Amino acid sequence: MSGRTRARACPERTCVGCRERATKAELLRIVAIKDTCVPDPRGTLPGRGAYVHPAPVCLDQAVRRRAFPRALRVPGPLDTKALRRYVEQTTVAEQATR
Ligand SMILES: [Zn+2]
Repeated sequence: MSGRTRARACPERTCVGCRERATKAELLRIVAIKDTCVPDPRGTLPGRGAYVHPAPVCLDQAVRRRAFPRALRVPGPLDTKALRRYVEQTTVAEQATR
């Protein structure tokens, strides 16, 4: 009687930064548009997505190990400046509401 779990209701993804699994709701979807990493908080942009915690520490790890080009299957280095700005703003906004 231990069959059903809630896993199906909350699909899990791996954060490309810290490599920990989390539900999609906890992670920020990233897509590559040309050679730029673009945050996709609503999950509406087409194409392959990578998932990362919306935290600067996870973003740093992902950038350092070049996880984004690998996860998004693009050859070149990706510009993560806009993504970093987004994550920093999100982090500040979340702290402000606590
Ligand atoms: Zn993470």
